[in-house]
Parts: sequence; structure tokens; C-alpha cells
Amino acid sequence: MIQEEVLILKEISYKENDKILHALSKNSGKIQIISKGSKKTNSHLINASQIFAYSKCTLNVSKDMYIMTSAQLLDNFYNLKNNMDAYYNACYILELISYVAQENEYETRIFDMTVSVLSHLCKYTHEHDKLTAAYELKLAAMLGYKPNFLHCLRCGSSINADGKFSVTEGGVFCGPCVNYGNGINVTYNEILTMDKILKSKFEDIGFIEVTKHIMGLIRKFLFYYIGKDNFTTLKLL
Ligand SMILES: [Zn+2]
Repeated sequence: MIQEEVLILKEISYKENDKILHALSKNSGKIQIISKGSKKTNSHLINASQIFAYSKCTLNVSKDMYIMTSAQLLDNFYNLKNNMDAYYNACYILELISYVAQENEYETRIFDMTVSVLSHLCKYTHEHDKLTAAYELKLAAMLGYKPNFLHCLRCGSSINADGKFSVTEGGVFCGPCVNYGNGINVTYNEILTMDKILKSKFEDIGFIEVTKHIMGLIRKFLFYYIGKDNFTTLKLL
């Protein structure tokens, strides 16, 4: 029997009253949980067995499945349902993390960041895509692909003017070096903005001006490294 914090990514109806839950757990990566009787309206597991539920629960481990025996709901990000834009961004984040997270891997930082971005999506009234972009960039960095925005990929000098951002090499070419590598033209201001996003907490992202161009670059960068770009929920955004 173990205690785990879990975030429900997907719920699947199973048998008459049960559910199989795909969940991101704080200490064991992506796991599948059977939640017995949770389709009954009087079930004590009902709230913790729904998509977006974040809870602390007791799990029995049986073979390669986990069985939820009790749960304390910490948040269900209810406000997402009041704002379509926030909701769609949150759905995309669940699909993204569901693809990226591995089984039996310790992803504590990624888990905490995912819960945090969902709670901030609830608080924002607009510009939810900015939070999503920040999540994407931070996720890439946590997965080991942290771009260097401050120094040129080729000559190593400090970036202090317009240059080129290279998705494949994960960094920036300075002005004199732009012809030595492939990349997308970026202004000095855009480079600084991306660096700022990487270093800021979600609560401060609202103060940063982020253009569609930057959001596009960040997404392209993340998708290149995770090797997937056809997320179903992206069509909603
Ligand atoms: Zn250079």
C-alpha cells in the first residue's frame, strides 16, 4: 500500500461501476489506476476519479495495476470549466504530459509544474496561451533540452543583438555567426523574452509580453525534441 499524489489525465469506463484512470503520479511517473465503484454517485472515490482531479490517495499495488482505496481531493481545477480557452489549453497540457511522461520514472518537478500551470490557467482570464508556452519551454528544459539564449552557439560570445534561433541545435547564433547555422530570425528582444520566460515563475508570466512568433518558436522547439507534433487537442486551440 502506498500514498501518492496523482493527477488524473484520462478516465475510462470499466465494467458496470468502475473506472480505469490514466494518471500522472508524483513519484512513479505515469500509472494506471482502477477505481472501483467510482461511477456510483455515492462513491467516496467519485471526485478523485475524474479528469483533472488532483488528489492524495492510497493505492494498493497489484501486478502492474494500482487500485485506489481512498482519496483526498486537493483540487479539481473547477474554474477551467468556466473559461473555454483555459479549458482547451489545460486539455492540451494533459495530452502533452501524457505523451511525455514515462512509467516508473521519478518526475517530481514535472508533476509539480503541471499542477501549478493548471492552477494558474484557472486564475487567468485571458492569454492562457502564454502560460502554455511557458509550460512548454520549461518542460523542454526539464527533459534535458534547455536552450542557451545568452551565448552564441558558434563563437560563445554574449548575445546582445538580433540573431537566429536554431531549433535543432537548441540555441542562438549571434549576428556575425548567423550564416554558419540554420535557424529562424529572432530579434534581441525576442531572445531576452524567451530567456525571461524560462526563468520566471508562472505567477510572473502575465507581466511578460509574448508574441505569437515566440510561442510558435517554443512549440516548434519542444515538438522537435519530443518527436511528436500531432496532438489532438491542439486542434481546439
Ligand atoms: Zn557568434
